[in-house]
Amino acid sequence: MKISSFFYLVSFGVRTILLGKEDPILGTIIVTDRCNLHCKHCSVNNISSVLYPHDQIRREMEQLYAMGVRILFFCGGETFLWRDGPHTLRTLVLEAREMGFLIVNVVTNGTFPLDLPEADLILLSLDGDRERHNAIRGDTYDAILENVRRATADNICFYMAVNRINRDAIRAVCETARETPHVKAVSFNFHTPYPDTRDLALTRAEKAACCAVIGEMMEEGAPVFNLRSAFPYLIDNRFPTPCRQCVVMENGKLSTCGRCIEVPGLCEECGYFFVAEYTLLFRGNVRVILEMLKTYLRYI
Ligand code: SF4
Ligand code: SF4
Repeated sequence: MKISSFFYLVSFGVRTILLGKEDPILGTIIVTDRCNLHCKHCSVNNISSVLYPHDQIRREMEQLYAMGVRILFFCGGETFLWRDGPHTLRTLVLEAREMGFLIVNVVTNGTFPLDLPEADLILLSLDGDRERHNAIRGDTYDAILENVRRATADNICFYMAVNRINRDAIRAVCETARETPHVKAVSFNFHTPYPDTRDLALTRAEKAACCAVIGEMMEEGAPVFNLRSAFPYLIDNRFPTPCRQCVVMENGKLSTCGRCIEVPGLCEECGYFFVAEYTLLFRGNVRVILEMLKTYLRYI
């Protein structure tokens, strides 16, 4: 991250905390819900299967930028499936950069070649060791790791959604992150139980055990892109929700925090680490603030 971007984000944080503002800083644009996978824990793939038009996504970028968003994520479905005529995911990342977004990240399932050095981070879902990952995501583990090894930049961050199937594979994913070329870090979430995937939700005791393992791995030097200071809040689901500084745009519709905001009662069971980390940060939690400064400077 450029030093000027760092100071911009710090000054946004200070203003938000001191003045109690709720302006957004982090935005996600869903470019499509089309996906080549049907993961067991997923409730959002292939509902419309539309690749949203380039002009529309560009307008959404402009709208988010005008609202003050400076950290942008492109998300799916599977983002690498998106195209519109000559335009590809790379077009969107480059346009976002030209527009002035300070951090531009992409979320992917990793089953397509990873040639996107223009993105700050490629958040790539790896949900366990081979056995557990494949149990959730189909037989994709070996192909994904081959794509990671062949990637053209060191901008990959594994993204693991921990659930009842893979809760014992946290250590394996940390070790894979440490050993695999082009991987900067691993970031965790707990499964957020949509009505059709409640059976995968972790209990409080299971979440505590998972956080203990993640903490041990951090102590052993594993590259974990999360904040330990937020773990107690995640275990007990006692962080404020939704995150007012985060917005998501899908097909022209703007939502606060996530598209999941429309599912009744889901925010009380939210498993997204970023929601805990950002809401605690903007409430002025000193331990979270200090750890976030250190972590973001290390990985972005
Ligand atoms: S890759 Fe992502 S969008 Fe596709 S089915 Fe899996 S979780 Fe859902
Ligand atoms: S469940 Fe609620 S708090 Fe969690 S990401 Fe979705 S909208 Fe945000």
